[in-house]
Amino acid sequence: MTTVARGLIQEEKLIFEHSDPGRRGFDLPPLDVPEAKLPEEFVREEIPGFPEVSEVDVVRHFTRLSTWNYGVDGGFYPLGSCTMKYNPKINELLCRLPGFAHIHPYAPEALSQGALELMYRLQQALGEISGFPAVTLQPAAGAHGELAGILMIRAWHEAKGKARRKVLIPDTAHGTNPATAAMCGYEVVPVASDADGILKAETVRALMDEDVAALMMTNPNTLGLFESDVKEICDIVHEKGGMVYADGANLNALMGIARPGDMGIDVMHFNLHKTFSTPHGGGGPGSGPVGVTAELAPFLPVPLVVSEQGRYRLESDLPQSIGRMKAFYGHFGVLVRAYAYICTLGPQGLRHASEMAVLAANYVRARLEGAYHLPYTGRSMHEVVFSDRDLAGGCATLDVAKSLIDRGFHPPTIYFPLVVRGALMIEPTETESKEVLDEFCDAMLEIARQAAEDPRQLKDAPVRAKVRRLDEAAAARKPVLRWTPES
Ligand SMILES: *Cc1c(COP(=O)(O)O)cnc(C)c1O
Repeated sequence: MTTVARGLIQEEKLIFEHSDPGRRGFDLPPLDVPEAKLPEEFVREEIPGFPEVSEVDVVRHFTRLSTWNYGVDGGFYPLGSCTMKYNPKINELLCRLPGFAHIHPYAPEALSQGALELMYRLQQALGEISGFPAVTLQPAAGAHGELAGILMIRAWHEAKGKARRKVLIPDTAHGTNPATAAMCGYEVVPVASDADGILKAETVRALMDEDVAALMMTNPNTLGLFESDVKEICDIVHEKGGMVYADGANLNALMGIARPGDMGIDVMHFNLHKTFSTPHGGGGPGSGPVGVTAELAPFLPVPLVVSEQGRYRLESDLPQSIGRMKAFYGHFGVLVRAYAYICTLGPQGLRHASEMAVLAANYVRARLEGAYHLPYTGRSMHEVVFSDRDLAGGCATLDVAKSLIDRGFHPPTIYFPLVVRGALMIEPTETESKEVLDEFCDAMLEIARQAAEDPRQLKDAPVRAKVRRLDEAAAARKPVLRWTPES
């Protein structure tokens, strides 16, 4: 196997422990001008515990630490629902062009035409991909896009003179959906998906009334299944005067193939850091643009980027706007990456990416089916959800995840979606070769065999990682940030 790490796990002390008094990262020539005293009030007597280290100490310290972090540039990262695809480096290069990287948010419009044009064109491109006539680029992440979307729906209802009380949310939804609805003051009404994992039109019909402001749905849903009743569901919600919000986190299955706007959806967020090539997972900036129908467009956040006679400007005069969602214009660097990604792939390339993502998930499914229980057998889109039901030796999903670490793979998403007990949610994405998928599947199959032959080994994993099995609740609440060989 090529992806497994053996030996040479870099140990690393705290930077403070490298300190040696008087050691420096630079050496200045002797002063050839008279020394001037700094004003007393600006001089610190001492900086407590400030590390005194050489340049090579600093470089090695941070480089070693960086090897502790697992990222998609280092190996396969099959987190379901997160779309951890490899991000082409050309997009990094382009967003670092000085004209984009150094532009000041207060630069006048006349001097920002290039940046504004890029934002305008990205709005157009995202609208074209999703089937919505208007798009805002402001929200900072998917969850923030949800907030913008539901606020727009609320404003629309209020403008019609009737604020409603409830939002319907399927049981397969991501936790941010009910959180968003609750933040916007709505009562969350859970909707059960059917035995086949699909949200049924009849279920929605039974719950839909004139107090429901919106239904939030994810398509494909978090089981990786296409919500085949989507059109009928949208009709039912619209008939009763409600709106349908689509969580667009799974757009990686649909690009260039189908458009949520054509299915009857009224609002949808994009996760540019998932579908459109921005590295994520390390807490870096994301971006959650939102597309809306013409009916909701007057409620979009301000400012919008508009085009007039070949010039671009920021439009803030939207009397019904929900206001501003974010300082300035959103996370501009992410917008540049997304635009570069869309332009370099083009319509055919985007479609091909989605097709390959779906193919990769179905390949993994075909190889692992039988060894792992598949709770929902409908056709998989870009991700596939297994469960630990059939694992031998009392082994569970957590044991599989930890055993994958020993084999050099980041575990998939586990224990989500909640409707699957012991879920293993695998999203390989379009960028992985057959060789990598095979290595991963081989590891998964070996783990399933080991569960039957030697379950202790699974329960002991990981043995090759820096730390063994942690008490996960304590690790989250009382993190031990200092690593010692004993810990
Ligand atoms: C990631 C995700 C979200 C939230 O998006 P963020 O960009 O992380 O805020 C919402 N729904 C689904 C299905 C997701 O996968």
